[in-house]
Amino acid sequence: MDSVATPGKTLALVREKGLVPRKSRGQNFLVDLNIVRKIVRAAGLGPDDTVVEIGPGLGALTQELAEQAGLVIAIEIDRDLISALKETLKDKANVRLVAGDALKVDFDELVAGFKGDGGGRLPTYKLVANLPYYITTPILMHLLTGKFQITELVLMVQAEVGYRMLALPGSKDYGSLSIVVQYYTIPAVILKVPRNVFYPRPEVDSLVVKLTRRAEPAVQAGDEDFFFRVVRAAFNHRRKTLLNALGSLGLERPLLLKAMAVAGVEPRRRGETLTIEEFANLSKALQQQME
Ligand code: SAM
Repeated sequence: MDSVATPGKTLALVREKGLVPRKSRGQNFLVDLNIVRKIVRAAGLGPDDTVVEIGPGLGALTQELAEQAGLVIAIEIDRDLISALKETLKDKANVRLVAGDALKVDFDELVAGFKGDGGGRLPTYKLVANLPYYITTPILMHLLTGKFQITELVLMVQAEVGYRMLALPGSKDYGSLSIVVQYYTIPAVILKVPRNVFYPRPEVDSLVVKLTRRAEPAVQAGDEDFFFRVVRAAFNHRRKTLLNALGSLGLERPLLLKAMAVAGVEPRRRGETLTIEEFANLSKALQQQME
């Protein structure tokens, strides 16, 4: 079948199937084949690649992914879209459609279910998605902290969220999301996408980002859960000094001061000025003081 990524094809399919795009599911379908191709090109797919797609919608990206990759596994939560997807993907023998909630999926298990478990060495794969905006952050957290065998993620997100992923210390966009993303991956901007290439049109512009998974995290942070608690505490109270913001961890002030001295971090600084390395040093120093 021809690409569904045109306004005419998408509208015709929506009408034919009696669909009503659901805002509550973040359903904004891509209707520009040029943009679709740029997203797929960014994933650098070849016939040996397996790619997982979250939220195929009507199949705009899926059709193109199937042209480039060896195997495409697409997870869609909305069962009402499955009949439309079966139509747009009917001549794509290398696509596997899965009905389910991406937030609850163990992606490694899903891929192993189709590819086998590689005799204990789980297969690696890429992930491509035009993410539903209402759950971008939880999906991202699941994908990154889940420690799956994903080598690269090409994601379309709300522009504002994309800038937060890439932000550096001292900028207004720098926060917990920047640290999580940069701890696990190397992020890069692929392209800006205006709101008028979607049906229905969303209220904001988008950004396509590519996240290349690091073989090892960017820094050695010791206990990761504690490291991320320190980061969240620092950014939950952005206006406070680090010393006051970290008070919410329930640690004694002298202990905080000692750890800051060990880590070489001035107590009057604000969390938003700390590099990822400084957060890691501080977190490790706090862990030592607590032993
Ligand atoms: N990929 C299509 C495109 O680019 O035209 C649709 C993208 S649309 C922004 C997001 C899609 O994700 C919708 O089809 C929506 O139903 C689906 N979705 C929403 N929440 C989901 C979830 N938790 N798990 C899997 N899919 C989900």
